[in-house]
Amino acid sequence: MPSDPTRFALPPAALRLRLDREALAHNWRMLDGWSGTATAGAAVKADAYGMGATVVVPELTRAGCRNWFVAHWGEAAVLLPHVPAEQIAVLHGPLNDADVAFALESGVRPVLNSLEQARRWYAAGGGVCHVMVDTGINRLGLAMGDLGDPVLQALTIDCCISHLASADEDVPQNAQQLDRFGQVRQQVPAQRYSLANSAGIMLGDAYHADLTRPGLALYGGIARAEMAGAIRQVAYPEAAVLQVRRIEAGEGVGYNATFIAPRPMRAGVIALGYADGYMRCWSGKGGLSWRGARIPVLGRISMDLTIVALDDVPGCGEGDWLTVDYDPVSAAAISGLSQYELFTLLGRRFFRQS
Ligand SMILES: *Cc1c(COP(=O)(O)O)cnc(C)c1O
Repeated sequence: MPSDPTRFALPPAALRLRLDREALAHNWRMLDGWSGTATAGAAVKADAYGMGATVVVPELTRAGCRNWFVAHWGEAAVLLPHVPAEQIAVLHGPLNDADVAFALESGVRPVLNSLEQARRWYAAGGGVCHVMVDTGINRLGLAMGDLGDPVLQALTIDCCISHLASADEDVPQNAQQLDRFGQVRQQVPAQRYSLANSAGIMLGDAYHADLTRPGLALYGGIARAEMAGAIRQVAYPEAAVLQVRRIEAGEGVGYNATFIAPRPMRAGVIALGYADGYMRCWSGKGGLSWRGARIPVLGRISMDLTIVALDDVPGCGEGDWLTVDYDPVSAAAISGLSQYELFTLLGRRFFRQS
């Protein structure tokens, strides 16, 4: 007989993502301040980069944020109970009539990425929209050559945006895109203009226009070295010790015995694996901590489990919580993953406080 799980008290998860909400709000205020006369919005696509959009959006609303960028229409729906629809921009744009209908009914604003999308929106009665122009990343957006099309003059455009390809580097492409964006501003009539992501904010006033669109740095990522020390870590993954075991000298640990105990060891098995985004690249390399003491990963990461050395923390036992080393810059250097990947990989089994 099937039964109704809501009848039982679900026990707390052995895996949780602690968010430093003060750090999150602080990071937005820093980015808003660095944006000069422009205001900072927030890229909250991919569930606010894995942090949990339903936690992040109310927190950033309290900090003063009023502009939200998501990729998918479904992500906009998640935000609707929390913010006014007209503050939400869907970057992927309206691909078909169902997308247009959702936008018109909900009031969420599409980012139009092609003349086809612009015509589709205009034909449906349109209303206020955003437009993306490609100034050199060759990803989404109208081509520079499309800008003379009369449909663009007929639209009611709130924000005209473009996206920088290499703002995290000092390369000529940044100035080239800025120059093209200047041409865009001459040709596309809009209430507001927006160019900079997190890294782009650090390129200076010329890049700020009216609205900036930070994502990574909100969540503690160091998009450019200038941010170090000012942007604070937000995400602290924590996992509980499920079991403590003694391993004899010469025994293998985990799949394929890639670690052999050089001496008798005290090991802990924790509720964290690659299905949670703690990928196999952390095998033999990852680190955690308990009450300030360092705890290394032993051997391979499994799907749901990781084995760690508890020799130096005799007081740490079953049910105790370990914090994963997740400082974005050093975690990226050790794992080979980008800071973006480190955040967005954090899986659905993490309990996220609402
Ligand atoms: C993801 C995204 C952003 C945010 O970029 P970060 O590098 O995370 O700050 C801004 N604009 C667009 C169009 C994006 O796709």
